Amino acid sequence: MKEIAPNLYIVTGAVAFSVPVFVFEVNENELLMIDTGLRKDARSIIKKIRTKWGSLEKIKKIVITHRHIDHIGGLRYIMDKIEEANKQANVEIICHEDEAKYLIEDIKVQDLKPTRTIKHEEYITKGVKAIHNPGHTFGHICILFEDEKLLLIGDTIMNTSGVLMPVFKKFHDDYKQYTKTLKVLLEYEWDYAIPSHNRPTKITREKIEKFIKKTAK
Ligand SMILES: [Zn+2]
Repeated sequence: MKEIAPNLYIVTGAVAFSVPVFVFEVNENELLMIDTGLRKDARSIIKKIRTKWGSLEKIKKIVITHRHIDHIGGLRYIMDKIEEANKQANVEIICHEDEAKYLIEDIKVQDLKPTRTIKHEEYITKGVKAIHNPGHTFGHICILFEDEKLLLIGDTIMNTSGVLMPVFKKFHDDYKQYTKTLKVLLEYEWDYAIPSHNRPTKITREKIEKFIKKTAK
């Protein structure tokens, strides 16, 4: 587990290079989880969260950047473990309103559904806002941490050994829409962005801007 910005942690699983979970410490009693990783990573992710925060009860919200399996695979396992820790846990499963109908289909097998849908620029919790940038999936969101001036960009950009590129075209719902909506990210104040794939690390705004100017249509 690594604290990549104040109160924001990257929790990786057991599988090399798989999508991690991000955990934001909203306050001493509340954690916000972003994505849930692969199912086979869930056990080791949960273990790390327990080691750091003692109990899973503090997880009150899980926000899904988008519905791809490497971001939602661990959801059922994680929800079960939270409910084992606290039967009254009323964890919100949050996604963008345009992602909901697809996510409902995709997590039906896990017997779950989103419990809250959000709109572009809606606050997930104080100081944490959803930025809708459709294309990779129709309801893909980036997560802006206003105080930390940091943007989690999900699968908007891949960072392969320092070279920024889009995710392969075949994994997009609508690649054209993706290139058209990239610029929305530059409308907000942030200094660093963090992608979900390939050992997530902070990327400077300058570097992201160059990528967007080159890729955006
Ligand atoms: Zn994806």
